[in-house]
Amino acid sequence: MALFGTGMGRVCAVVAATDAADMSRQLRAALRSTPTVELRLDWLKNDAERGLFLRRLRKFSPAKAMLLATCRRREGGGKFAGDVDGELYWLMQAHEAGCEWCDLEMETYRELPQGITRELPLPRRILLSIHDFERTPKLPRTVSVTRHGLVDAVKIAAKARTIADSVRLLKVARRSRGFVAVPMGDVGLPARILALREGSALAYAPVEEATAPGQVSLDEMLHLYRVHQLTRATRVYGVIGDPIGHSLSPLLHNTGFAAGRIDAVYLPFLVHDLRDFLRAILDLGVRGFSVTLPHKQTILKYLKECDPLAAEIGAVNTVVVRRDGSLHGSNTDYVGVLQALEEKLPIKNSRMLIFGAGGAARATAFALARAGAFVGICARREKAAKELARAVGGEVIPRRALSRESFDAILNATPIGMHPHQGISPLRAGELQCRVVMDLIYRPERTKLLKMAAQEGIATVSGVEMFLAQGFAQWEIWTGKRAPEAAMRQAVLAALRWRS
Ligand code: NAP
Repeated sequence: MALFGTGMGRVCAVVAATDAADMSRQLRAALRSTPTVELRLDWLKNDAERGLFLRRLRKFSPAKAMLLATCRRREGGGKFAGDVDGELYWLMQAHEAGCEWCDLEMETYRELPQGITRELPLPRRILLSIHDFERTPKLPRTVSVTRHGLVDAVKIAAKARTIADSVRLLKVARRSRGFVAVPMGDVGLPARILALREGSALAYAPVEEATAPGQVSLDEMLHLYRVHQLTRATRVYGVIGDPIGHSLSPLLHNTGFAAGRIDAVYLPFLVHDLRDFLRAILDLGVRGFSVTLPHKQTILKYLKECDPLAAEIGAVNTVVVRRDGSLHGSNTDYVGVLQALEEKLPIKNSRMLIFGAGGAARATAFALARAGAFVGICARREKAAKELARAVGGEVIPRRALSRESFDAILNATPIGMHPHQGISPLRAGELQCRVVMDLIYRPERTKLLKMAAQEGIATVSGVEMFLAQGFAQWEIWTGKRAPEAAMRQAVLAALRWRS
């Protein structure tokens, strides 16, 4: 028998607001998605608001809802300023108002005489919670609540400083019953998403404001990551980078998996230390991953096999994990840039200028040179420009020559003009002596550079086209199927337009 619920009911919406009206509004919103809801009574700004909210709840008495009341004291990491008696008073009131569960933090539990929790008129079921907001402590091998029967479930919420920390917590969930695993912090986010499939009895997600670090919103939990549908058979993919929070790749790939009816999920891994992630691959069941800054070059030394072109470029953005855990790398940025540009002009025998000489410039230069274009490199560091020009048989073009020389296309491969600095352009209008301007930046979709080029009557290509094409290619490498491009494109464009 499932402890908290089944299906979406295993995802607990966290309702937390400072006044009763807002709590009630959030509760109604939460119940549209899941019947399981935690009511953070400690977030309400005073006892008057707590009383008001619980009186409303009693009248409202939502049918089929599974309500869990929490009135966490400051000692336990909550906002309730009262003492243990105050906390118990509000939990008993919550019972009266229809809450079936309550959360009792270890700091409170320890202060109570043994067995008293079963004598007090608290909500019928008790979740004992243990929090560590600093680290993941030493953990028990397994947690069993049936042995003494004083509580009905145990939760450990602990900050994951490393991916290995979050894996340790998931392993406890795998071996236990009546256990809720909550890896906290941005590094723990993928494990938080995988917790249900690893055996955690519950996953938490805020309806609005985050109540703990590294939370994923209720909407994303249910609709982007579909956590309630993940099983041990679900294939895990992801993107590794630092930072990673801004990435649109989870939206792109998860939309593709849903549209293509593939039992897979794609997660954002904040990776400070590549070895920490690589050691967790088999435990988490990772079958492939995208690589972004700053790991695109470093990953090469951990590969068993590398596509020769990616090796020549010196950067890998796509990795396949074989069953034995060995890694096979390739580079789809290369494909992405060609597909995006080919829509506007034939590349063979064309004259191209790349502005910048970093990782993306390198993939672009190899792609264009291989496709038969002349490649000019203009970069602020002459040494970097020279090295790249030499590697692809191109030439260095000094900045001062840009207003005189003409090209078929100019490509920006620097981050100048990227969100949140979208008001600036890497080049001046007079330097755009070309038929096509492509900006590799994809956020915003239309950069200042592209707007300027359009005003000059020059055709433009957004970095979104490259982002989509490299992503479609990755998706096809991992699944062996044609990517559902229309659905993936629509999701990414909608997100970009909504965010800008
Ligand atoms: P990177 O390796 O850090 O290279 C950045 C390049 O830009 C370097 O040559 C750097 O010069 C130059 N640069 C940075 N700031 C500059 C400034 N103020 N003035 C002149 N040059 C400057 O980064 P990357 O991976 O190549 O990424 C570059 C851009 O491409 C990013 O905006 C990224 O989002 C985008 N990108 C898009 C896609 C896509 O799918 N659309 C794929 C990959 C990358 P120094 O070496 O002198 O610092």
